[in-house]
Amino acid sequence: MSDPAALRAALLTWYTANKRDLPWRRTRDPWAVWVSEIMCQQTRVASVIPYFERFMARYPTPADLAGAPLDELLTLWAGLGYYSRARNLHKAAGQVVERHGGQIPLDPKAFGALAGVGRYTCGAVLSIAFDQPEPVVDGNVVRVFSRLLCIEEDPRQPAIRKGLWDFAARLVPGERPGDLNQAIMELGALVCRPKSPTCLLCPVRPHCLGFETGRAPHLPVKPKRAPRPITRFTAGLARTPDGAIWLAQRAGEGLLGGLWELPAVEQPGALDALDLIAGDHLADVTHGFTHRIWEVAVHAAQGVPAQGDYAELRAVPEAELSTVALSGPGIKALRACGIALAHRRGAGRSARS
Ligand code: SF4
Repeated sequence: MSDPAALRAALLTWYTANKRDLPWRRTRDPWAVWVSEIMCQQTRVASVIPYFERFMARYPTPADLAGAPLDELLTLWAGLGYYSRARNLHKAAGQVVERHGGQIPLDPKAFGALAGVGRYTCGAVLSIAFDQPEPVVDGNVVRVFSRLLCIEEDPRQPAIRKGLWDFAARLVPGERPGDLNQAIMELGALVCRPKSPTCLLCPVRPHCLGFETGRAPHLPVKPKRAPRPITRFTAGLARTPDGAIWLAQRAGEGLLGGLWELPAVEQPGALDALDLIAGDHLADVTHGFTHRIWEVAVHAAQGVPAQGDYAELRAVPEAELSTVALSGPGIKALRACGIALAHRRGAGRSARS
């Protein structure tokens, strides 16, 4: 690569002039930075903004979140998806209170030991909030570096991934390490975009081997994705005599644990396993996760559902559905049956952009 100092300078100058004005960029509060970093993972920035603002108004410090019930947080999070992020943040806030008197630790080891804080989050928060020279590598950084260095191998390979972290670690020391990290990620979001990098407008074009060789649009190398397994469910829309809808809370901390949905059984089981009598077929819903797909056939149902493997059952009036921490498939199933849910937004599913 050409001169790292010149590359750094080009990135910082461009970032200063072109960065988006985002709510979490108006503060150096490490808690706000941390929350924004967690919310932005796997989710579009535009989708995150209203959630971030509501979150910070409700939980302005880690202690505020630590003292709040998880169910309340999951309700606020509903629609953002990837609920393990919320559960980990809740747990980590408690750890910050218990271990660090409510102050977010500056030490990478102490911060990295908190729930849900991986290498990326650790580097992002410590560099952005405290200007520590900690590197970050996320999807945008992988793309920018793969093109900049013209890496023709799968960046998910451990050796290649290590090389990217090493490169980031060599680049970050110097003035404004937090801005430098954000500059690379912002370049990936705005200029070095996945499908059509706008190289002619790019501030680091003179340093870019991918541009020079014409290989940039084909990088990073993407291995073929294995087909995702499909799991099929039958869900029941059952009501109480006064019209409230029976919902069930998924147990545990696994996939969608703690979230609510129409009571369902995995096929080939039938709804009578939950003491429900299945009626008309109302709708079919598909929900894709990173590694699997759920297909849910929703039927009208009669009866009071049995608890089965669920943690809890609750009959909720339609007008109160928006106050419940519904799962993504749960929201889709209700909507597919024509039931309106107020004040809910769809979750973004792409990497930060
Ligand atoms: Fe990406 Fe093109 Fe810039 Fe290289 S020149 S970093 S490929 S936008």
